[in-house]
Amino acid sequence: MNKGSEVGRGKTKVLFEHPERSDALVIVQQDQISAGDGAKRHVIQGKGRLAALTTARIYRLLNACGIPTHFLSGGEDEDGNEMLVRRCTMIPIEVVVRGVAAGSYLKRNPGVKSGTVLAPRLVEYFFKDDANHDPQYTADQIVDEGIATTAELAQMTDVARLVFDVLAHAWRRADVLLVDLKVEFGRATDADGNTEIILADVIDNDSWRIWPGGDQALMLDKQIYRNMAAPTSDDLGAVKSKYEEVAELVGKFQKSTGGFVGIIMGSAADAPHADRVAKALGQLGVPSRKHVASAHKTPTYALQRVQQLDNMLGRVVYVTIAGRSNALSAFVDAATANPVIACPPIGSSFGGMDVLSSLHLPSGIGSTVVLEPENAALAAAKILAVDDTVLYGRVLVTQWRNRVQVMEGDSRVNALPQSNGKA
Ligand code: 5GP
Repeated sequence: MNKGSEVGRGKTKVLFEHPERSDALVIVQQDQISAGDGAKRHVIQGKGRLAALTTARIYRLLNACGIPTHFLSGGEDEDGNEMLVRRCTMIPIEVVVRGVAAGSYLKRNPGVKSGTVLAPRLVEYFFKDDANHDPQYTADQIVDEGIATTAELAQMTDVARLVFDVLAHAWRRADVLLVDLKVEFGRATDADGNTEIILADVIDNDSWRIWPGGDQALMLDKQIYRNMAAPTSDDLGAVKSKYEEVAELVGKFQKSTGGFVGIIMGSAADAPHADRVAKALGQLGVPSRKHVASAHKTPTYALQRVQQLDNMLGRVVYVTIAGRSNALSAFVDAATANPVIACPPIGSSFGGMDVLSSLHLPSGIGSTVVLEPENAALAAAKILAVDDTVLYGRVLVTQWRNRVQVMEGDSRVNALPQSNGKA
C-alpha cells in the first residue's frame, strides 16, 4: 500500500498518512511483543502479519454487523498486511469489558475467584498513561476532565458491550470462552462534517483473554507471554504458534451456515403480510423464499414444499402465514423438526378473522405465534443467529439502535423548554 509520512507510533504499530486520502491512515502492525507497560520486550518474527490478519478479520466481522468502526480495507497478505482505516482522533481511554473475572480485576478484588462469571458484564475504563500504569478512571472522572462527554462515553460503553457480545458469540462457536477484552475509540468526521464516535485501534490476540473450553490452562492469548519470566526462543516460538492458531480461528468467524427463512402462506391473498416478513428479514440480511401452499386445498403439495426446503443445505426456519384456523402452522409443524413461527395475517383486510382460534394451536404443536410480521422476522433471525455471528451481531445492533431511539425520545420529552427571556 502506498504510504505517506509517519504520523504516530504505538508499542506494536506505526501509523502513516495516506498519500491520496486525507481522511484515511495506513496502519502497519509490528513484530514487537511487550508486557508490564513495556518493561519486558521481545520481537517475534511474523507477529505483525498475524496481528494484522487477526485485526482485519475481526473488523470485517464487526463492520458486517453494522458496528461503526474505523476499518476500511486491507490487513490480508496481498496488502502486505497493511490496513487502511478512517482517520480519527483517539480518545485516550481503554475500555475493558469483562465477562469472567481474571487479570487486574482479581488484583483489585482479591475476594473473587479467577473464572467467576460476571453478570452483567463489567465495563471498566483505564486512562492511557504508561508512566502511571494506565490508572483506572470512573465515568465521572472521564467527563469531568473533558476526555469525553457523557453521551460519547455512553456510546463507547454500549459499543464496547456490543463488540464483546459479538466476539463472545464467535468464540463460543469455536468452543472458546472470551474472558475479557480491551477496545478503544476515536472521533471521526462524517461526510456531513458531523463528529461521530467509532471503534478504532487494533483488536488482536493482545487485546483479549480467550480460554478454549473455558479452561484457563489452555489459554491462547498474550497472557501466555505475560506469564513467562524470561522467555527462551522456544518459548517465543510457542507464543507465535498460538497467535497463528488464533488468526486462523478468527478467519472462520464470518462463516455462515447459509440459513434462510421459508415463508409459507396459505393463499396468495396473504402476500402483503409475507412481503412484510421478507422485507424485515432482508434488512437483517437474511434470505427468504416465499411459497403459497394450502393445508386444506393442497396438502400433498404443502408437504412436498416443506420436504424440499428441509433438504436444502442451509438451516431453515419457517414462518407460516394463514388465516382462520391457522391449520397451516399445525400442518407444517407436524411435517418438520425445524422451528415454525406462525404469523397469522391479522389486519384490517382480515377484520372478520377469529383471532383466538388462530392463537390456539392444537396440543403437540411446537410453533410459536407472533402477530406482527416484523417481529416474526426478528424471531426467525434470532433462531438462525445461533450459528451465524454476523446475523447475531445485526440483531444486537438493531436492538441497540432501538434502545437509542427510545432514550433520545425520552430526552426530547424531558428537554428543558427554551428560555423566553423571562425569569
Ligand atoms: P487487565 O486489566 O485484566 O490486565 O486486562 C483486561 C483486558 O484488557 C485483557 O484482555 C488484556 O489483554 C487487555 N488489555 C489491557 N491492557 C492492554 C493494552 O495495553 N493493550 C492491549 N492490546 N490490551 C490490553
